[in-house]
Amino acid sequence: MGSRNSKSISVRRLFTALDKEHPDAKLALDFESAFQLLVALILAAQSTDANTNEITRTLFDRFPDPASFASAEAEEVEQAVHSSGFFRQKARTLRSCCQRLVDDFAGEVPRDLPDLLSLPGVGRKTANILRGNAWQIPGIGVDTHVGRLSLRLGLTEEKDPNKVEADLVEQVPTDSQIRFCHLLQYHGRRICIARKPDCPKCVLAKDCPYPDKTEPALPAKPAKSTWVRS
Ligand code: SF4
Repeated sequence: MGSRNSKSISVRRLFTALDKEHPDAKLALDFESAFQLLVALILAAQSTDANTNEITRTLFDRFPDPASFASAEAEEVEQAVHSSGFFRQKARTLRSCCQRLVDDFAGEVPRDLPDLLSLPGVGRKTANILRGNAWQIPGIGVDTHVGRLSLRLGLTEEKDPNKVEADLVEQVPTDSQIRFCHLLQYHGRRICIARKPDCPKCVLAKDCPYPDKTEPALPAKPAKSTWVRS
C-alpha cells in the first residue's frame, strides 16, 4: 500500500486541469529513435534539456549508432559532449552503454525493463521515460519535476524516486501515465517551480495541500510624493 497524503488532490481532477492548462506538454528532448533518446537522456543528467538538444543537434552526424560510440576514442566523445557538464563521466557512460548494446543486443536498444536496467547509466527514471516516449509503453519516470510536484500535491509522502514511482503507478491509470508525466514536467517548469511555486497562478491551488503555498503579491504602495509646494 502506498503513502498518499490523506488531503491529496484527486488524480482525475489534476489530470483534467493540467491537460487543459498545458495542451502542448511533451518530452522536451529532441530525438528520432530510441537510440537517440537514450543518448539524450544520459546527457541530460545534471544539465538542461535545451543544452542537451543543442549538443544532440550535431552529435548524431558524427555518432549515428551504438557501434560508432563504442569504437570511438574516449577523448573524441568527451570533446563532442564537453558542454554538457560532467563530460568525462558522461562520455565513459555513453561508450560503455553502447558497447553493451553492440555486444549483447545486436546494436539495438532493448524494450524490456530488466534489459534496459542492466545497461550502464540507465536507472528506472531513464528506462521508463525511454519506453514511454520511444515506444508508448506505459510507466512513470520520476524526474525532478514529477517527484517534487507529487510530494507537494500529496500524491506521495516519499522522497525516494522508486517509492514515488510505486505510489504513482497505483494511482494513475495505465493509459494516462505517459501524459501524466509530461503534464507534471510542464507544470513544474512553468508554475510549480522548485525554488518558489507561483501558487496564485496555479489551476490546482484550490485543491493543493502543500503547506507552503505562496500568496499573491500585495499591490505596491503608491510612492510618496516628493513634490514640495513653493
Ligand atoms: S498550488 Fe502551488 S504548490 Fe500546489 S501545485 Fe500549484 S504551484 Fe505547486
